[in-house]
Amino acid sequence: MGRLYFRLSLMREPAVLQANSAAFYGLALESHIIELYANAVATFLTQLRKPYFVDPVFYKFSAPIFSELSEKRWVDSLSPHYGIETLLFQFPEGFEVANLEAVPDLAKIVSSVLEYQRRRVPSLNAGALSLASLTGQVTAAAGPPEFLVVPYLLVSERASIRSNLRLAREGARVKQKGERLYAVLALSRDYFGSESDLEYITREYAKVDLDGYLIWITDFKDWEEDSEVLKVFAGFVRRLSAESKGREVINLFGGYFSAVLAARGLLGGSAQGVGIAEFRDPLVTGGGFAKRYYVPISHRFVSVDLADDLRDASPSVFSCSCPECGTAPRPGSMSVQALAQHFVSVRTQEFQLAAGTSAAAIADQLSRDRTTLSRIKVPGIASLTSAHSRRLEVWEKSLRDLVQAGLVA
Ligand SMILES: [Zn+2]
Repeated sequence: MGRLYFRLSLMREPAVLQANSAAFYGLALESHIIELYANAVATFLTQLRKPYFVDPVFYKFSAPIFSELSEKRWVDSLSPHYGIETLLFQFPEGFEVANLEAVPDLAKIVSSVLEYQRRRVPSLNAGALSLASLTGQVTAAAGPPEFLVVPYLLVSERASIRSNLRLAREGARVKQKGERLYAVLALSRDYFGSESDLEYITREYAKVDLDGYLIWITDFKDWEEDSEVLKVFAGFVRRLSAESKGREVINLFGGYFSAVLAARGLLGGSAQGVGIAEFRDPLVTGGGFAKRYYVPISHRFVSVDLADDLRDASPSVFSCSCPECGTAPRPGSMSVQALAQHFVSVRTQEFQLAAGTSAAAIADQLSRDRTTLSRIKVPGIASLTSAHSRRLEVWEKSLRDLVQAGLVA
């Protein structure tokens, strides 16, 4: 069985995660979030006592992403840790792959980024602990992350793959005894159509002394992709692992389907957002906070207005037994916090259920749920329930094909 991680992005999320902490494995932290909310993150980790890893988000300093970021308060604090002030001074709009390649002491930057991951949270923790002891709270110091992550760029062409490989090799060279090191493969979904690129990536990365991979298919939403794409995704995961003699692969931005693949052990883990965004588009920053409700039977988010309509159309099909829904008459009356709490409860339940069931049985359940949804013919929501029904059918068929192909069981 793989592991379920949640990603911390906003400071209203700790309470939501704390309440469900027994039901998931660990935390995915991003370095710019650590810098933005240093004290709050440190305090949270001492209380949560969960394994974590740090995504160094090195790509955020590259062009064109850096110039398009609306939120940069973390830059002044993070760049000295990474030793990239000179690079940023030279390329204030963000560096290109070639600029990075020309840096004389790239090894030193890689080393600094890894050192940041080793030390940052434990050192912040020391401060949080002394504060907590003053107020009599019982806390424990968080240690280093469970694995280190090589700095990476988004892959746009072969040159950026080669650059990422170089960063990975530098990382492997300075990895310390007993440490595990993971590389991020941040690829566009377009690469699924390029057999030669996928072959190159799996082969070349397997040669580097790494312990696992984090994959981020930048425009991949597992609740929208057709069956072929889902299967290529699963096949790529299997290939990466097989080619490297069993290294684990964690999906960095997963939805329901990834949670199932992790629960069934094809993925070593799936990292989930806390209901704000389950996928990541590198060129979009910020984002609104339209209130959305996660519909358990559909494994999809809808606006709270539509969620109310669904609940009215069939209270039994669209009910939820989580503590938040138990006390709220309708999704529209729930706070953003309660909606996130509901999502985290449901996602952890989905994961645990999938972990204790065969993939074939999950497909059977999806099939029953799709029939249930397709029978709801209430005007105004029929097109929605029928779209959700079709989505369950895509997941069901994909899972059955993956079982057939021997990728999941
Ligand atoms: Zn609920």
